[in-house]
Amino acid sequence: MPTYEEMLITLELQRNSSKAEGKPSAKTRIDRIDRAINLLQKNGKILCDAMSEDFGHRSKHQSRMTDIAAAILPLRHAKKNIHRWMKPEKRSTFPFNLLGGRGEIQYQPLGVIGFITPWNFPVQLTFSPLAGIFAAGNRTMIKPSEFTPNTSELMRKLIGSSFGDEEVAVFLGGTEVGTLFSSLPFDHLLFTGSTNVAKAVMRSAAENLVPVTLELGGKSPVILGKNPNIRQSTKSIMMGKTLNAGQICLAPDYLFVREEDKDKFIEAARKSISAMYSHLRENPDYTSIINKNHYKRLIGYVEEAKSSGIEVVELNTADETFDQQAHYRIPPTLIINPTDNLKVMQEEIFGPILPIKTYTKIDEPIAYINQGDRPLGLYYFGTNKKERNKVLTETISGGVTINDVLMHVAQEELPFGGVGASGMGAYHGREGFKTFSHGKAIYYQSKLVSRLAKILSPPYRE
Ligand code: NAD
Repeated sequence: MPTYEEMLITLELQRNSSKAEGKPSAKTRIDRIDRAINLLQKNGKILCDAMSEDFGHRSKHQSRMTDIAAAILPLRHAKKNIHRWMKPEKRSTFPFNLLGGRGEIQYQPLGVIGFITPWNFPVQLTFSPLAGIFAAGNRTMIKPSEFTPNTSELMRKLIGSSFGDEEVAVFLGGTEVGTLFSSLPFDHLLFTGSTNVAKAVMRSAAENLVPVTLELGGKSPVILGKNPNIRQSTKSIMMGKTLNAGQICLAPDYLFVREEDKDKFIEAARKSISAMYSHLRENPDYTSIINKNHYKRLIGYVEEAKSSGIEVVELNTADETFDQQAHYRIPPTLIINPTDNLKVMQEEIFGPILPIKTYTKIDEPIAYINQGDRPLGLYYFGTNKKERNKVLTETISGGVTINDVLMHVAQEELPFGGVGASGMGAYHGREGFKTFSHGKAIYYQSKLVSRLAKILSPPYRE
């Protein structure tokens, strides 16, 4: 287990190396990005094998998309845009931009960025932040999750063979290492994980006034609004709920459906699950739950609902039993109109369970969403523009996808981040470059303005 002192030595090594390098050229930054892309391209297969081993089972096709391709795309996007991002940004100046003074923002590397990652997309969430971190010209230290030990160890080895310790260094361990890591005097700390742990991370970072970007989770609602295409909407919702077995920060957490559409939705959900998974227990496309504790937590939600007399619909397509299985798979499960005191309505679900609440007027889901923590994502399905705009204006969430789920996260030109309990700050694309840069304000004084500015010097007159 790495000690605080060992990590601090690496931080100093990186900081000194960064200082000695000064402002790295676009070529140097692109070289770092290219090495990350090459690493992923060459080692995609073994990384997918490691992730599958860590999850018990995880579809390698899914891992190829959600972890390998999803990390390569932002790195390529950064490479393509780096020259544009690095350019100083012109700003208008007082008075009236007319008298020759000029203003601009120059972007400088912050230095050493620390980042802590979760287990659910271990490769994607370790490599995709490198796009903004490298594009902005920084060094970085990473603490991946202890819940994916094979993947984390493999990433440490691969990164070690492609980067010097003065560029990128990986430290393995659990809460104890995470606690020490987050108290290092970084130039910026990116934390991706749960809201509770984020509070401890922010407290530690505060000791050194380290600025933080917190990428958290929460309960992302879905509203099936007026005139939706129920078949298509349900397909998207159930895909989002079963991809990675619902272990996604942005997974649709619970659904609001009009009273009259409830049965149609349940029927469509049954059909869409059958079409995606003819069977579940040994289906190579269906990912298992990461570990026993999370499995027990999820089963607990269903048991609590059942014992409270709430209707539970298991979408167990081949009518299989799920006891004594080698891995922790759970069939997609709908919980119909759960009461709000149930844990499933209070905690982030992070699994293939979907509570459904019925409503009659759109104000009901809006009021419900607004009384809780601000969610990371929100999804609205429907064709009524007025209703859609009402939902957009009257709710606050990190991001939104209309007529689909999850997809705003894949748009590199859109910032990704939460608000309130779902996070602070954002990255991806240009916002990532800005998050990991210092935007230095520079004003070039003109002779004329400089003469006029003398009115600031006493003795003052009328
Ligand atoms: P977690 O918060 O339990 O752990 C995340 C990381 O923090 C791990 O590396 C862990 O070792 C470390 N850690 C644990 N205790 C720590 C401490 N006291 N100080 C410093 N570090 C500590 O989260 P998890 O279970 O790995 O991941 C699931 C959570 O992450 C969910 O809430 C999910 O919504 C969220 N998430 C968010 C995003 C996003 O981009 N917004 C992406 C993926 C997951």
